[in-house]
Amino acid sequence: MLKKKDRIFTNLHGAESYNLAAALKRGDWDDTKKYIQKGHDWLIQEIENSGLRGRGGAGFPTAKKWSFIHKDLGKPIYLVVNADESEPGTCKDREILRNEPHKLIEGSLIAAAAIGARTGYIYVRGEYGAEAKILEETIAEAYEKKFLGQDSKLGWDFDLHVHRGAGAYICGEETALLESLEGKRGMPRVKPPFPAVSGLFGCPTLINNVETLAMVPTILRRGADWFAGLGVGDSKGTKIFCLSGHVNKPCTVEEELGIPMKDLIEKHGGGVIGGWDNLQAVIPGGSSVSLLPKDICDTVTMDFEALSAAGSGLGTGGVIVMDQSTDIVKAITRLAKFYKEESCGQCTPCREGTGWVWRLLERMCSGNATVQEIDQLEQITRHMEGHTICAFGEAAAWPVQGLIRHFRPEIEKRIQMYHGVVGSKNA
Ligand code: SF4
Repeated sequence: MLKKKDRIFTNLHGAESYNLAAALKRGDWDDTKKYIQKGHDWLIQEIENSGLRGRGGAGFPTAKKWSFIHKDLGKPIYLVVNADESEPGTCKDREILRNEPHKLIEGSLIAAAAIGARTGYIYVRGEYGAEAKILEETIAEAYEKKFLGQDSKLGWDFDLHVHRGAGAYICGEETALLESLEGKRGMPRVKPPFPAVSGLFGCPTLINNVETLAMVPTILRRGADWFAGLGVGDSKGTKIFCLSGHVNKPCTVEEELGIPMKDLIEKHGGGVIGGWDNLQAVIPGGSSVSLLPKDICDTVTMDFEALSAAGSGLGTGGVIVMDQSTDIVKAITRLAKFYKEESCGQCTPCREGTGWVWRLLERMCSGNATVQEIDQLEQITRHMEGHTICAFGEAAAWPVQGLIRHFRPEIEKRIQMYHGVVGSKNA
């Protein structure tokens, strides 16, 4: 378990105030100027040494993303904070926005100095109204102290603005977010060009997740080696996990990457309702990754490599626990409906595929399908995956593939019962 002294987010649950006075006591804004003055090469190198990877879902190395920014185009450079947290099962950034907003503002300033940005935007999910207000208050405090704005006393002039989204899931995809920020419909862009070359208003832009940026100041203060010493393999440091579903104590908690899933659920979530043996499956990283059945959950660890090797992913760290009472086919059908509703509709495999998948699954819930249609369902998801403009195609396909991979007999049983092969459909 993560030691108390190694926690980055010491006020994650809001035991203390989020305001500047309390944040300063917690060590925020300590020596920020000293680190900024070391220059952008040092900042990027230090983050590289720490092994920090993006905490928004994709897990891309943060320093590499920072170093991709094209500084020599003669155009302004922008920093955009992705606070459009909408992944089902995920509420980690919300806790940072509510209780540790100064860590995010400080991390944004440091990232801006590292890439040469003078203007930044925090794109907040529209539904996070209270959190957007907290951010505005926090930014006002930072301006008043001259941490932000022109003539900054921290050595880097940087203006930061809050922009509220309008509630579309797809705006969490970074190029859809940029479109929305520019005042257009939130639709993902065809890449290349990538935002590092042509992002906001056609200028080089860095887009980072809230948790990623909020970790940066502590990494600099405590040193890259300290952060790299936590975690396992290429999954360094800590991560905020959100435990929901059939656990005794749903919670949001910071833990070391590589913690066994069972420990995470038992030690922080109070265990599965009815005990570990009552577990049916877990979705480990938000709704866009494949579920894992109990026998894998028994031993799998919570890190990028282990979850990927198990056929799933760390994603956002949104852990959705489902006990034996869960109708697993219905649960994935519900997610499929979500993806059908949230597809932006630009690409045919996604627009048509998400609806097709949902309709097939609806029939499979009751068994009103054929066994061959299970293969057809799988095939449709294979045509979606990798054939779309953005990763939404995969996000919609993977949960369904996971269901078929691990619970095909459950679907077949329903079909056989419906057609009277095994007992009665009402049995
Ligand atoms: Fe839109 Fe789906 Fe295509 Fe992404 S994959 S651009 S959400 S239609």
